[in-house]
Amino acid sequence: MSAKGDLIHAWSSDPLVRENGESGGAVTALLKFALEDGMVDAVLGVRKGADIYDARPVLITDPGEVADTEGSIYGGTLLLSKLFGKYLSGAKDLKIASALKGCDVMGAYEQAKRKQLNLDNVLMIGLNCGGSITPAMMRRMISEVFQVDPYSVEKTSMYKGRFHVTYGGQHKDIPIDELEERGYGRRSNCRRCKMKIPRQADLACGQWGVRKDLVGRATFVEVCSGRGAELINRALEAGAIGTDIPDASCIKARKRREEAILNLADRWRERDFTPLSGSKERLKEMIEETSRCIKCYTCIEVCPALFNTTRPYVTAFPGRVPPEFGFHLLRYSHVADSCIDCGQCEELCPMDIPNALFMHAIEADLEELYGYHAGEDMSRPYISIMEEPRV
Ligand code: SF4
Ligand code: SF4
Ligand code: SF4
Repeated sequence: MSAKGDLIHAWSSDPLVRENGESGGAVTALLKFALEDGMVDAVLGVRKGADIYDARPVLITDPGEVADTEGSIYGGTLLLSKLFGKYLSGAKDLKIASALKGCDVMGAYEQAKRKQLNLDNVLMIGLNCGGSITPAMMRRMISEVFQVDPYSVEKTSMYKGRFHVTYGGQHKDIPIDELEERGYGRRSNCRRCKMKIPRQADLACGQWGVRKDLVGRATFVEVCSGRGAELINRALEAGAIGTDIPDASCIKARKRREEAILNLADRWRERDFTPLSGSKERLKEMIEETSRCIKCYTCIEVCPALFNTTRPYVTAFPGRVPPEFGFHLLRYSHVADSCIDCGQCEELCPMDIPNALFMHAIEADLEELYGYHAGEDMSRPYISIMEEPRV
């Protein structure tokens, strides 16, 4: 019997799922089982769209369709957290299971604090995540650095610090550090991200620490809650998954991997934040960069630390493009200590304004001042707006 805090190796009992799944298909098997068993009414997943660079969210109620979802489309940089509130009534009347990266889980907590999501109804299967790459960057990098036609690629993956490309029966891999030194690689927010193992989910699943003879055939699972343990136990009892206990060397290897990637994130934080460390320089940079703003409201609509409304911004700043700097100050004040560095406000900004960098730099300062960690639990922030503002 598994319990909160346990570490296990797991894999799907279905040979087809095991073969097609990234690491033995454990996550697929657990999502499918949760749906079949009635633990949830639906699965919110991501499916491959037009090509391997196109990730599309999908709500599944037929267990037979769960195997078609993709746990790791590295070129898809979707954030699922806000979809619950926007399209699924905040999971108020529907129990939903979902495989979520660290930023998805953090965003889900921030949405729950703002009463946009009922976390009791969301079964979170956390995915360890080393980072993701925008579809445009992925295509450019594969073409220019790997010298491979991006449309001939069947699979991309990131493990052991290298980016792997499989195409036409061939394979190439290059260290991520090297790619990033050359100006390619992960989104800048991902480089700074320290939520690599999302332990505030019900389970945290990934490849790090998998025993050598099981690599590619099993997932390393950390059981993070009683609900996660119940899912594992019921799935095991029903024969949906197989499990094994990792030895001390596996646990040590996972810890080493996590520490290495967290140290790397610290180095990127220093590199990105240092030019903004003086208050005057930061303000000057923000005013200059945001002067390109066309007031499309995307950075507000996508932010998981904000409500599902642009009303205060529309009402307070009517009729001017670019808007006064106060438009951005209002957003900064609403997000302030709750930014989870998901990168959405930057990636989707049509004017390439480094919104996530500015917001994350402010959040990091406030985190040091107040000790509040956004997205880690249900504790309330000191500054950010938690009740929908009235205007
Ligand atoms: Fe992964 Fe963190 Fe990037 Fe989200 S922000 S995709 S959890 S590295
Ligand atoms: Fe994500 Fe930007 Fe909101 Fe921060 S401010 S949580 S990076 S969308
Ligand atoms: Fe302005 Fe960019 Fe935000 Fe649109 S997404 S409102 S252009 S900062």
